[in-house]
Amino acid sequence: MKSGHRQTCTLIAVIVMLLFIASTVAGTRAVVAGRDQDKPPSIVDIPILNYHKVDTIHHSLSVLPENFEKQMAYLNDNGFHTITPDQLMAYLKFGKPLPEKPVMITFDDGYLDNYANAFPSMKKYGFTGTIFLVTAKIGQDQRFMNWDQVREMQQAGFVFGSHTANHTALTKVDAAQAEAELVGSRDEMERQLGQKPRYFAYPTGTYNLQIEQAVRQAGYRAAFTVRYGQVGPDSDLYALERIPIFQSENTFRSFFIRLNGATLLERLGMIRN
Ligand SMILES: [Zn+2]
Repeated sequence: MKSGHRQTCTLIAVIVMLLFIASTVAGTRAVVAGRDQDKPPSIVDIPILNYHKVDTIHHSLSVLPENFEKQMAYLNDNGFHTITPDQLMAYLKFGKPLPEKPVMITFDDGYLDNYANAFPSMKKYGFTGTIFLVTAKIGQDQRFMNWDQVREMQQAGFVFGSHTANHTALTKVDAAQAEAELVGSRDEMERQLGQKPRYFAYPTGTYNLQIEQAVRQAGYRAAFTVRYGQVGPDSDLYALERIPIFQSENTFRSFFIRLNGATLLERLGMIRN
């Protein structure tokens, strides 16, 4: 009796989900088609995907390697081109054209699985990404990459930015500490990689106007948040929007994101079966 009831519920849930997906597919096509006609082709909004971990650990920040692979395959099959933050900036500041269907793939923190699991998948499709490092963890903590791995990915076209030295939420510390995090991570990256990082991602996504100013003063050209959205010519260069991608559609977070951005996620094939 109980299991019969559960089956009925599951069936209803599946039907509701299919109807929902069908409606967003229909909606999306219309939006995309309308947009192509209404807007000059040079103005596009760019999705910046934000991953953390790509591994089999059941963690809210993880995406399974097989799902990550499917997402990369989808982007490849559908003609997306990965762009670097320099390309993004040239577009936002000077209107320099981007490749067709641009997408930026970013990872926060610098976990070892980015190198071990995401990198092979992306390499296969000629994709590159941008990784924001917690510099004090690199080469110091087994869960994170080491500098040799970072350099190897850099040679393959990946870009590395700062995510502070210690993953400090900059709004929670005083100005001197915030500066130490911004400058310390910058200088360590310069020592290890031979060039100053040009981009920054806010740990925990928190920032305010003073923090934006401190990031700018430390020499970063732009900074990325976890504020949901696509980046376009109106975006604040020190508060760029991203689209978080998480593992499970059953978690509230994932549900929330899908609910609020179903159209875009569907377009990207991120709403999964
Ligand atoms: Zn982080």
